[in-house]
Amino acid sequence: MAIAKRSRIELATQRFEYAPAPESTDHVKIEKRYDLFIGGRMVKAHSQKRFPTINPSNEEKLSEVVEADEVDVDRAVKAASKAFDSWSRIGPSRRARYLFRISRILQERARELAVVETMDGGKPIKESRDVDIPLSAAHFFYYAGWADKLEWAFPNVKPRPIGVAGQVIPWNFPLLMLAWKIAPALAAGNTVVLKPAETTPLSALLFADICMQAELPDGVVNILTGAGKTGSLVVSHPAVRKVAFTGSTEVGKLIQRSLAGTGKRLTLELGGKAANIVFEDAPLDAAVEGIVNGIYFNQGHVCCAGSRLLVQESIFEPLLEKLKIRLGTLRLGDPLDKNTDIGAINSKAQLEKIAGLVESGVEEGAELYQPECKLPERGYWFPPTLFTNVSQSYRIAREEIFGPVLSVLTFRTPDEAVEKANNTPYGLSAGVWTDKGSRILWMAERMRAGVVWANTFNRFDPTSPFGGYKESGYGREGGLHGLLPYLELN
Ligand code: NAD
Ligand code: MN
Repeated sequence: MAIAKRSRIELATQRFEYAPAPESTDHVKIEKRYDLFIGGRMVKAHSQKRFPTINPSNEEKLSEVVEADEVDVDRAVKAASKAFDSWSRIGPSRRARYLFRISRILQERARELAVVETMDGGKPIKESRDVDIPLSAAHFFYYAGWADKLEWAFPNVKPRPIGVAGQVIPWNFPLLMLAWKIAPALAAGNTVVLKPAETTPLSALLFADICMQAELPDGVVNILTGAGKTGSLVVSHPAVRKVAFTGSTEVGKLIQRSLAGTGKRLTLELGGKAANIVFEDAPLDAAVEGIVNGIYFNQGHVCCAGSRLLVQESIFEPLLEKLKIRLGTLRLGDPLDKNTDIGAINSKAQLEKIAGLVESGVEEGAELYQPECKLPERGYWFPPTLFTNVSQSYRIAREEIFGPVLSVLTFRTPDEAVEKANNTPYGLSAGVWTDKGSRILWMAERMRAGVVWANTFNRFDPTSPFGGYKESGYGREGGLHGLLPYLELN
């Protein structure tokens, strides 16, 4: 048995020897340094401070961006306030036209955007090409459709925009998070000041170029680079009327406290520790693909990642065997290679966080499994990892790792599955794998999670609202729900 298992693993890993298939970068122009996008053009910053953004797969510096200061933030918010007067009043079908145009340009420049996203953040090109960029374009396309139908979307009230939205986004899906923030805000007639994450500012700066190309009226979108300090200046600016934040629960709580009593509207999209639950009647091969996609997609840098696998005890062994074999076939390496499944970890800090939590798992007594996997010498890398023998009290079962690390737990009954799935301060997403439709509905009713996927995982669609319960935040992005945070309805 052991020998048979071994050779099947070898077969699976040896069968496919792929020649390198790197996406070319010569169609992409990254400037040596970038200014800030304020009032419709790139302007010299008041701040003298700059910092580099690197390619995490080789640690090479890609460009230098500004750390926007208080004066820069004030300028951007003033530009957005000024633009709000006219943007909120132009015919809604004209607003729609700009959004359609942006969506179209995102599609036209998809290849360039995908390469920049991959170089700046480390994610595999097949993901930025097939997921991040098309979904970003789809998001603008979807909200363009709502822009002139708000009165039908919310009948018997008069939907009105709020004003300037201050938006802060993370590094895991830089352009997609930008789209989730900017598209509904603009469709509803608001103007925005957006700050991308410090490790992945480049696609947002490309987006600034796209706004100019689309001839979007000056000041409707403003983009400020910087780190946490700049982010806090954006959200605390008194003329910002609505704050939208995606990032860690820790910073989310900080922002919530700082906005208390200001009357500003706030939505928070924070962390997660999702359960991916496999029942004994599930199609196991499909479930294995869903588990892999759930936790190794984007190196596990996914807030709704299926980081806790709950397996019904009766199928624990066959499922784990299949899963381990599948892990051995994942290709880790150059994110620009079209055959790469697992790219680079986004930053050194994130790599350290992942390594620390994995160490704690071993120390607390979990059993570690990693397929044989050669890590490149330069850059930040972590092999696909899974833990068995995990107790619910272990840190790896409770804390968000935000890396390619899966904790496997077991259950016997559906009730136990629900209890374990909900045993977390988070509540962003969950997955259920079963052949029974009735069980899917039974589970979905009982799980405290904003999204419950059935026999799939990590599927996103602009028409579908996304957001959390409990410490995963509040407010929804996507769908009709995604317009609500940007509208005054009475
Ligand atoms: P982070 O909270 O440190 O940073 C997120 C963004 O907030 C960055 O742009 C950062 O510069 C900015 N920021 C930092 N401190 C700030 C402050 N005091 N005030 C205002 N802005 C501030 O998170 P991170 O480590 O960069 O990102 C990973 C986290 O984001 C994970 O916990 C993940 O779950 C979460 N996330 C959630 C979602 C979601 O939709 N729920 C999506 C992606 C990421
Ligand atoms: Mn970078």
